[in-house]
Amino acid sequence: TAPAPYIGRFAPSPTGPLHLGSLVAAMASYLDAKAHGGRWLVRIEDVDRDRNVAGADEHILASLRRCGMFWDGEVTWQTRREALYDAALAQLADHIYPCGCSRREILDSQTRLAGSGHGNAALVYPGTCRAGLAPGKVPRALRLRTPAGEAHVIGFTDRWHGPVSQDITAEVGDFVIRRADGFWAYQLAVVVDDGAQGITDIVRGADLLDSTPRQLYLQDLLGLPHPRYLHVPVVVNADGEKLSKQTGAQAFDNGAASEALLADALLPAARFLGLDIAAGTIPAFWQAAIPAWERLLRARNAFRAPLLQGPR
Ligand code: GLU
Repeated sequence: TAPAPYIGRFAPSPTGPLHLGSLVAAMASYLDAKAHGGRWLVRIEDVDRDRNVAGADEHILASLRRCGMFWDGEVTWQTRREALYDAALAQLADHIYPCGCSRREILDSQTRLAGSGHGNAALVYPGTCRAGLAPGKVPRALRLRTPAGEAHVIGFTDRWHGPVSQDITAEVGDFVIRRADGFWAYQLAVVVDDGAQGITDIVRGADLLDSTPRQLYLQDLLGLPHPRYLHVPVVVNADGEKLSKQTGAQAFDNGAASEALLADALLPAARFLGLDIAAGTIPAFWQAAIPAWERLLRARNAFRAPLLQGPR
């Protein structure tokens, strides 16, 4: 029988060069696509214009090429797709409201939750502007109402972590889909693009595990299918912080010799994923790594997973 269609993606934010942490996410998504005979797309997630670093997108793409990770089709940039986000916003009109609260006000009114959301500490929005802008407030962000009835708890089966669920109303609250600075929120852009690009499989770092229920909820509201998810462990530094430029990650060196890239980048990333590869060249590395990834997933019963849950 023909293999089930598979479209995966790597979706880096161009905030700096690739490093071990982001290479692990790139490698896992690439290996999973190749092991399934699928396509692998690259999308530059540059909606947060304040965090973009000029040239980082091209630097990341050059690093992927140097690693022998060649993508299918054209690279997409989210800032060139904003009409799609506008259209999604119109579709969500019944579920959104303007909010005039500052982060400070939400912080003051809220308990800070343990764990991290995307970037910032997770805060539960208290719903101050839900029934209309509070007096004296000006509209800043647009928020999406989380379900009030039975449907708060959103669950899915992660191919790595198994069953995951989150009460998005209690643990997240009405969340921002267009920010006070006018930029599109990650949650909206990622869902619209994964849907528009027909992504069937999302493989990314576990720091995004707690964003997934929000994304499943948005997919439901927008009438988009649910992709399958696999969240790989996140690389941390000696202090246990997620590896990033700010926490001391070493930038990928596009000028290094292939032997050095293999020894200092590809092999350590593979080892982190639990793949023990012996290879002397980059092509030999991939030739060994793709079946090794398949074996690793088969051992976890996570290879060729059935398409995710239908309607929950
Ligand atoms: N752009 C996000 C990041 O770099 C990843 C988004 C995703 O894979 O869904 O953290």
